[in-house]
Amino acid sequence: MSHLDSLSKVYSECANGAGQPSVYLTFDDGPHPSCTPKVLDVLAQHRVSATFFVIGAYAADQPALIQRMITEGHEVANHTMTHPDLSECEPGVVQREIFDANRAIKAACPRASVRYMRAPYGIWTEQVIASAASLGLSAVHWSADPRDWFSPGVDAIVDAVLASVRPGAIVLLHDGCPPSEMKPGSDAGLRSQTILALSRIIPALHDRGFAMRSLSQQH
Ligand SMILES: [Zn+2]
Repeated sequence: MSHLDSLSKVYSECANGAGQPSVYLTFDDGPHPSCTPKVLDVLAQHRVSATFFVIGAYAADQPALIQRMITEGHEVANHTMTHPDLSECEPGVVQREIFDANRAIKAACPRASVRYMRAPYGIWTEQVIASAASLGLSAVHWSADPRDWFSPGVDAIVDAVLASVRPGAIVLLHDGCPPSEMKPGSDAGLRSQTILALSRIIPALHDRGFAMRSLSQQH
């Protein structure tokens, strides 16, 4: 039994109903002032909705990007305020990290409604799930991880996604970088492989008959 199986109510894929098979693209660790607009441009070009698990401190710095996500039909979700390993945090800190991120998103875009939360590094505990639930947030993991953060090459990212998607899959990608991993001068080219891969993944999934939706468009 995996760690996730032992926990209550962490979703790693979505049920696919009778409609068109769907894949859920999700982006963690933004918004980032140069990466996120490029991701949004690719999504807009293909008329695809996605879900952004944003870091609250970045949302506070980049409110216009949160507003753009909402205006363009994407889901904005909670990835904590500062991206700590929540299993190392006191319960009060866990609660505050999640609460503060919700507040930062709402401050950036008052019409945003926050429905989902993803733990940094995908490290879940019952405390994290309970804290999220107390704010009305569903805990969402992923089922397809092409490890794009590791910059394995555009082909490797595309191939990993296409090899692992099935109806209801939740795909993990990144449009930013956590504060603890941001190196000085590393902004140039950050997530460039992800952005190039995305522009190939979307048409390939369309060719296979998949719709791409945000998590709130589950059916
Ligand atoms: Zn993250």
